[in-house]
Amino acid sequence: MKKHNFNAGPSILADEVIENAAKAILDFNGSGLSLLSISHRTKDFDDVMAEADVLFRELLHIPDNYKIIYLGGGASTYFYEIPANFLGRKAGYVNTGVWAKKAIKEAKRYGEVEVLASSEDRNFTYIPKGFAIPADLDYVHITSNNTIYGTEYHEDLSSPVPLIADMSSDILSRPVDVSKYAMIYGGAQKNLAPAGVAFAIIREDMLDRIVRDLPTMMSFRTHVENNSMFNTPPVFPIYVLKETLKWLKSIGGVDEIYRRNKEKAALLYDEIDRNPLFRGTVEKEDRSLMNICFVMAEGCEELAPEFMEFAKSRGMVGIKGHRLVGGFRASCYNALPKESVEALVACMQEFAEAHKK
Ligand SMILES: *Cc1c(COP(=O)(O)O)cnc(C)c1O
Repeated sequence: MKKHNFNAGPSILADEVIENAAKAILDFNGSGLSLLSISHRTKDFDDVMAEADVLFRELLHIPDNYKIIYLGGGASTYFYEIPANFLGRKAGYVNTGVWAKKAIKEAKRYGEVEVLASSEDRNFTYIPKGFAIPADLDYVHITSNNTIYGTEYHEDLSSPVPLIADMSSDILSRPVDVSKYAMIYGGAQKNLAPAGVAFAIIREDMLDRIVRDLPTMMSFRTHVENNSMFNTPPVFPIYVLKETLKWLKSIGGVDEIYRRNKEKAALLYDEIDRNPLFRGTVEKEDRSLMNICFVMAEGCEELAPEFMEFAKSRGMVGIKGHRLVGGFRASCYNALPKESVEALVACMQEFAEAHKK
């Protein structure tokens, strides 16, 4: 039976990306060697890095005064590296859920943290808006898409201080005005690659704002100056990331994927709103295009395990909600085809039909 992969991360990648990765594992560029056993200091791998750089810049319209780096360690590593590099006195954070909280916890090790806004009062079901950003902060940090709760910023914030965004789960899913950010970072395993690499897009002048003497590996300067090759980079996930960027370009780039993502999300949210057995969990205007959360409607809560089993029997994978939210979460990342969303919607309709009172 065909599986519909709604996993939250690591998550679905395009079929042709996986096929190309499989071929490269057997024979990388006709070299007679596996991608898994080449040196990272070869012309062939330099080409992979260079191609990834060109594609990332082109797809996201990244201005020339930004550098892209690829490191191991995941987005969680950046949670402490960002304050280690940039937090001298005080930074502002917006608390929109678990990932934001983790970032805040690490920042407090390095200086003062001002939580500028929080949606914790309503279990992170909305994106706080209209809060002031004081001009004396070293930077302000946001989480652009909240993977667990299913909320997402739909506009780029304007900030008088450097704006840093964790875009782990919505990078390259929608157009972004990169010039409004001092730094964009994230783990690649939601929309770009298998686990093992985290990307960062850093405005060059931020390197002059590094506030302390750091261990070499912790300084962003090290990785920018060495093109992410100070030590061994995660060769395999970077290769797959490059293939994903190639695929994204081939289907029409960010504008096209944004169109598809909006279409997929509308299909599912419309069903959630229409179907009497289900309801959405977050404010409509802040609904994520990537992670779509829903629960059984009031009075139908006891049907949840039965729906889960039914959906599973129809090939749905990974739709269990995070334990902090409960219910269901369908992650609809870039590579998820519309057919998978249609299959889930059909499941919901059939289930409702079978439980008509
Ligand atoms: C998954 C996720 C993280 C954690 O990423 P790791 O690479 O596992 O450290 C951080 N932020 C957001 C928004 C995420 O979705």
